[in-house]
Order: sequence, then structure tokens, then C-alpha cells
Amino acid sequence: MGDVSGSDDSEAGAPRRGPGRRALLIGGAAAGLGVAVLARDELGRLWWRLPGTVKKRTEGEVDAPGAQWTAASSANWRRADRPSDYEIDRVVIHVVQGGYATALKVFKDPGHGAAAHYVVRKDGHVAQMIRELDVAYHAGDRSMNERSVGIEHEGFVDREESFTDAMYAASARLTAGVCERYGIPVDREHIIGHVEVEGTDHTDPGPHWDWDRYLRLVRTSRARARANPRASPEPGRT
Ligand SMILES: [Zn+2]
Repeated sequence: MGDVSGSDDSEAGAPRRGPGRRALLIGGAAAGLGVAVLARDELGRLWWRLPGTVKKRTEGEVDAPGAQWTAASSANWRRADRPSDYEIDRVVIHVVQGGYATALKVFKDPGHGAAAHYVVRKDGHVAQMIRELDVAYHAGDRSMNERSVGIEHEGFVDREESFTDAMYAASARLTAGVCERYGIPVDREHIIGHVEVEGTDHTDPGPHWDWDRYLRLVRTSRARARANPRASPEPGRT
């Protein structure tokens, strides 16, 4: 099944990692604020506003050129500082089991408990809803969420016509960019379907997703970007 039908992708409990640089920064700088009573989410927000932190964030900024920013609910992801705190070495391909508008709506719903970094529409339009810095709850597995970027595609796993040429092309450009940013090999070990995440009961992207075609497109897109790095990946868009 796809991702908008349930909320089993959320994460609960304390971070698995011990106190890292980020936690120490929080503890040191915010000690007078009674940090123990603040939720982890609030700590995250507090942390990045402190001076001297690692990466500055700008509202509306996107990681993928041409993507349109539309924020997911902060309940559906958690703040991180990837790839400094977690290495990114996987791209996870999803299918919504619904339309683009539905995906955006549920990812903005704090009760949904899940959201992906990107949603690709059948006409090739790409929405970015969560920064790649952050951990999106899309794979239903904490470790996979921490190491991956999640890309949703509108449509249904049992409808081959869901996956248009424009969608494949846009998604491949997106994945090529992710692979380039983090040095991820373009192969089926590193670019996987949700169905391949250990322990999942999701089947997306399903039997109609053409992996050979997709990887070919990702490689072509990456080669083109390397040959002409200053070119806009999506002419006509800003
Ligand atoms: Zn999925």
C-alpha cells in the first residue's frame, strides 16, 4: 500500500545516538531555559536559531533546483543536520496511492505521522516539503529514514498509466541531484522502493514502476548535469 492511507511511519522514543555535538550545544547554550521540560522538537527549533550553529536555514529554500517549497507539518519529520549527523546514502521511491493534492494535504496534517521530502506530480512538477537536512518519516523505519531521501509520486501502484514520461524525467533529475549532492552510487542497492525497506508492509512503487528505465534516466541526468553544471535543470522554471 502507499503512504497516505496510514500513519505507521512515525517515529517514537528517544534518539538512538548518544549525545552528539548538537545535543551538547543545546545543553550548553540553553541550560538556563529549563531544557528538560521542552519537547525534542522545540529543542531542535531552538538549536538552529542559536548563533554559531552549523547550517543556516532560510524559509522557502529548496535543495532541488526547480522544486516548489510547500512545508509539511513539523510533526511528520524531525530536525537534523544531515549529512553531518547522519550520512545520506539511500533514495527511497514511493507511490502515493492518491493524487498530488492528497499527498500535500496529508503531509501537512500533523496527525498523519508521515511525510516525504518530495512529491512529484504526473506533469513533472516537484514539491519539496521537508529539507534534505532533516529526517522525514517516510520509510516506516528509523534507520532508513535517517539515511535516506524520500520521493513520493502521485498515482497508484496498480495503474501503469500513473507513471508518465514527465514524471519519470522529473523524478530522475531529482534523484540524480540527490545522488550528486551526497555521493550516492546510482544503482539498485542505493535507489530502492519502499517495498524493499526491511520489515515494511508497503508495496510501493509496485510492479509497474520501470526500474531499468528509471536508473537509465537518473544516469543520463547526472551525466548531463556534470557536463553542464550551470544549466537550469528545468528550463522555464526558477
Ligand atoms: Zn511508500
